[in-house]
Amino acid sequence: MATFSVRFLGCKVSHVDAHEVRERLLADGHTECDGDADVAVVNTCCVTHEAVSKSRKEAARAARTHRRVYVTGCGANLAADAFAGLPDNVVVVARRAEETPSFVAGDVGAIGCVRADARLDRVRAFVKVQDGCSFSCAFCVIPLVRGASRSRAATAVLDEIRRRVAQGHREVVLTGINLGCYRDRAAGYDLPRLVREAGATPGIERLRLSSIEINHVSDELVAALRDTPAVSRHLHVPLQSGDDGVLRAMGRRYTTATYLRRLAPLQDEFNLTSDVIVGFPAEDERAFANTLRTARDAGLTKIHVFPYSPRPGTATAGDDAVPPQVKKERGARLRAASHDACLARWRTKVGRDDVVLVDRPGRGYGDDYSPWLVGENAPMGELVPVRGAAVSEEGILAA
Ligand code: SF4
Repeated sequence: MATFSVRFLGCKVSHVDAHEVRERLLADGHTECDGDADVAVVNTCCVTHEAVSKSRKEAARAARTHRRVYVTGCGANLAADAFAGLPDNVVVVARRAEETPSFVAGDVGAIGCVRADARLDRVRAFVKVQDGCSFSCAFCVIPLVRGASRSRAATAVLDEIRRRVAQGHREVVLTGINLGCYRDRAAGYDLPRLVREAGATPGIERLRLSSIEINHVSDELVAALRDTPAVSRHLHVPLQSGDDGVLRAMGRRYTTATYLRRLAPLQDEFNLTSDVIVGFPAEDERAFANTLRTARDAGLTKIHVFPYSPRPGTATAGDDAVPPQVKKERGARLRAASHDACLARWRTKVGRDDVVLVDRPGRGYGDDYSPWLVGENAPMGELVPVRGAAVSEEGILAA
């Protein structure tokens, strides 16, 4: 029997992949522990140069305290060998997400068939329904490291949701690299149907989508979100740029007009959050001003700002025209605008009721994914009724 620890860097898909390895090792009878262990699994990220360097540091640190380290995930699949030169006890597993748990488990060595049914270590259960992407945005390394889009069978997804709800998770987040591409053709499912049926799972209290591309925000999907009481009033829709010239150069397949038109009917009801890249090679000051304007017109609140970082193997790998200082300054301006938009939304909650899922001591998120401060005694992992009393820089203060 081995002791092991699993860490992940990056997005919710990386989190799910790390937990699939974890569950497989537990099912094989190995023991998870927090500190030093025989085996470490580091599920890596390669979305930016910085993410790769953090992943490499994490693997190097684990190599000092573990007998063997498995480096898995997007970073491990990056064409350039980002983990070369690490100690001999580091094994880089350049395999697809579906193959990784059995590869790691086989290498660690199975010792039996203990049924673990491990509860995920977060309050929310992230259920992966789709992986990979068949598009080719100019900046994006994901299709190279995760392969083309493929979907899980709807029955497997719905079974997993039932299992997570039975384990006590109050919220389920449907997760994928490009969630709107979800299809189980044999069984006749697309994402809207999956949302409706996932939301009908007995006992489910909150259902969310991790992220959805604007081209997939169809009338059918909007109807499914609106008609399903468990669906939370939050949608994360990557914008990447609010300038049509930059969007074209990025190969994003939509215009700002499309983005605004599709989100307009949701603005009042849903909290809309997004990702934006600043400092893409084609982005001049005018284009950046368009991004600020589009973000405001779309009613976006929280924006995750990523300074552009060229990734190996992508169409813009050799292009990084915007100076780092300019990226930094634009990033700060966009973050400030996003913070103001968040504060404005939070102020509307004062004097109103909500229900918060407590996910850290004294903190949690309301139905629309606005952050709340609820007091240290609020029970972790539970949904608690709250009333907004005031707003701080960090969220809404519960009365
Ligand atoms: S950014 Fe583009 S290429 Fe990358 S995962 Fe998203 S849709 Fe696919």
